[in-house]
Amino acid sequence: MEEGTIKKLMTSLKCDTCGQHFKPTDVEILGHREELWFFRVSCSICTTACLITASVKEKALADAVNDLTAFELKGFSSANNVDTDDVIDMRNFLRGFDGDFNALFKP
Ligand SMILES: [Zn+2]
Repeated sequence: MEEGTIKKLMTSLKCDTCGQHFKPTDVEILGHREELWFFRVSCSICTTACLITASVKEKALADAVNDLTAFELKGFSSANNVDTDDVIDMRNFLRGFDGDFNALFKP
């Protein structure tokens, strides 16, 4: 498992002291034994440091690494998959789109 991916997963955690999400540069991987990983995390905002032990499974990692909120995940979990018709519709839309996002999102 890539260390960069593991660090990205760790950014879903927040500092207990100041509440800010950790950044990948805040996380130092101390090592792992199979699914059990050991981290030293130093908050770049308030400088609080802590040790974290986490069990990281491949499937859990695939599920957890994204930038969706819990609300968005719930919404997308019941949505249909993107299919060929969706791609064709988007292609047709983009052919005629002039790039005016203000007009596109105007209420
Ligand atoms: Zn902090």
